[in-house]
Amino acid sequence: MRVVFLGTGTSQGIPVIGSQHPVCHSSDSRDKRLRVSVWISWDKYSLVIDCGPDFRQQMLTSGCTHIDGILFTHEHSDHTAGLDDIRPFNFRQGPLPIYAHRRVLDNLARRFDYIFEEENRYPGAPSVDPIEVRNDQPFAVGDQVATPINVMHAHLQVFGYRIGDFAYLTDVKTIEVSEIEKLKGLKVLVVNALREEEHHAHFNLQEALDFITLVRPERAYLTHISHTFGFHADIEKRLPENVLVAYDNLAITI
Ligand SMILES: [Zn+2]
Repeated sequence: MRVVFLGTGTSQGIPVIGSQHPVCHSSDSRDKRLRVSVWISWDKYSLVIDCGPDFRQQMLTSGCTHIDGILFTHEHSDHTAGLDDIRPFNFRQGPLPIYAHRRVLDNLARRFDYIFEEENRYPGAPSVDPIEVRNDQPFAVGDQVATPINVMHAHLQVFGYRIGDFAYLTDVKTIEVSEIEKLKGLKVLVVNALREEEHHAHFNLQEALDFITLVRPERAYLTHISHTFGFHADIEKRLPENVLVAYDNLAITI
């Protein structure tokens, strides 16, 4: 399985528009972060988790030419705003399966009504095949199984996903013990760590490290990073050996 980090930044991305913060002016390419997303592929199967406002650029940069489905974590715009840009995939492949909680599918149908329109569709409008994801109901993705992991982003429910020995959790603030059980025996865990300071809806660094200690993956990668976390090179120095900071375009094999 190959995982490419398409974006690793928090909702505004890094650099932040107009910001004079030193991280926003860093010359280290690892300090440039698009909105969070990963591209997961094995054999001929290809999945993307989330489809934020940088989706088009991420597809061009990564060279992704085929997608078998998009798994959505939740409806916030930094995870969904790029949905209109699936059209090139539709023209080549037909409707794209999108997997999400019923609440998220309903939200997308309101915000992108023309995509979900069944009558008098605008020719060339994006087309999707919506598939509801339910907690405790793993589902097939190609010849693998995706297990939804139920987490909380303050008061908003969010799905993380486990596929084989890989799990991707973003926008987590709290998680039930029963969900942590679903994360045993991972080779790679990706989890959000916004910054060192506390945040009402995201793990900060210490919370992410405590969570990693509970889950005990072989390796963990931090994502959904704010410019206020500091320079990539400085964050890395403060982490245990098996915890790494993800950066845009990093590709790993599991
Ligand atoms: Zn987010």
